[in-house]
Amino acid sequence: MADCLFCRIARKEIPAKIVYEDDRVMAFEDINPQAPAHTLVIPRQHFATLNDVGPGDEGLLGHMLLVAAGIAKEKGLHEKGYRLVANTLESAGQSVFHIHVHLLGGRRFAWPPG
Ligand code: 5GP
Ligand code: ZN
Repeated sequence: MADCLFCRIARKEIPAKIVYEDDRVMAFEDINPQAPAHTLVIPRQHFATLNDVGPGDEGLLGHMLLVAAGIAKEKGLHEKGYRLVANTLESAGQSVFHIHVHLLGGRRFAWPPG
């Protein structure tokens, strides 16, 4: 999508600290980190929210989780633990309408979340 922030990052029109990329996904550091480690994993394909994915997207969504878990391992977050988050729409606080998985680590997280 022409004006979507994360599509523009995926096309490298807007700079980001990229930690992983392949033909389907990209991972980059969050500009406003909420933990010592805060990486976003996005698909290159535009979906505004998780309400917009469907049958046929299982592979892509699974790949996003595997990439997030791989980055967690590379960063050594897998030993103490980490959190994956996918905020969806207003009640959850989604602010960028291109789906993304937050990989958060490096500190203890409360449950239930705020
Ligand atoms: P959401 O609130 O939609 O779950 O998450 C969007 C995330 O994108 C936020 O954590 C926010 O800090 C991050 N973000 C917003 N704009 C940019 C940007 O231009 N670059 C990067 N790297 N992250 C961004
Ligand atoms: Zn997009």
